[in-house]
Amino acid sequence: MRQKRAKSYKKQMNVYHYTFKFREPYQIIVDDEIVTTCQKSSYDINKGLTRTIQAENKPMITQCCIQALYNAKNQDAINLAKTFERRRCNHREAIAPADCIQSVVDINGENRHRYVVATQDLDLRRKLRQVPGVPLVYMNRSVMVMEPLSDASAKYSEEWENKKLTGGLNDLKAGKIVEKSEEDGGEEGDGEDGAPAKKKRKGPPKGPNPLSVKKKKKGEPATGGSKEDGEKKNKRRRKHKKSGEKQGNGEEECENSGNDGEDRDDRHNENEERKVDAKEIMETPSTRENSVDNQHITDDEE
Ligand SMILES: [Zn+2]
Repeated sequence: MRQKRAKSYKKQMNVYHYTFKFREPYQIIVDDEIVTTCQKSSYDINKGLTRTIQAENKPMITQCCIQALYNAKNQDAINLAKTFERRRCNHREAIAPADCIQSVVDINGENRHRYVVATQDLDLRRKLRQVPGVPLVYMNRSVMVMEPLSDASAKYSEEWENKKLTGGLNDLKAGKIVEKSEEDGGEEGDGEDGAPAKKKRKGPPKGPNPLSVKKKKKGEPATGGSKEDGEKKNKRRRKHKKSGEKQGNGEEECENSGNDGEDRDDRHNENEERKVDAKEIMETPSTRENSVDNQHITDDEE
């Protein structure tokens, strides 16, 4: 039973995260009554909130709520409340805690500061259900519970999903929202277990694939991948040119000395042989040069 509840709370918190852009640590406005209730039943409110929200959170209490605790003169509850961050509400004269919380949370019908509200005041919870995106938490006997998604929140969430689905093709802005929400998904993963977000790489790769890059020569200063790439290209080009020259020379030779048909044929054969293995032919100085060059290039490439 408890696990089922935890799962549904998690699901609900995901809606607040993705649709309403809640971010950890979630800020929780606690009222004086829930503080008193927890203190009286020795219920650890911090643990309870964390178990319910299932995320990092920051309980806060408004000035008016803490004033209400002072008025009640429950020192233990006051001490407990003092451990929470104080939320300035700028009510010079303390007003009723429920009114104070509503004024802090409901700003023009919007939960602009993305507060979770933990309150025992049913009337306040009813009012805050009208504001889309207000997670509501309260103590039910000795169990901390979260209210199901309010109608206002569900409606907003549904509209948002529809906009995402239908607006994606024509509306650039809608597409952007989709993209952003996906990024957020990564962040959320990061918060949860870290694995999916860290695998994601943003931006272009920083260098060439190390497996495709030639090893550095000795004495060559360490250079960026791009320069090395350029050098590699140059060498390749040079090799092409040289081999072209070589071929051209060979052909020229053939043409120039090609008076005799037989001789020509022989040379032609020789040329063919040279093509097969340049190292083996060392007969003429020109071929040797070529072969040396060839060797040199081979060394370079290695
Ligand atoms: Zn106040």
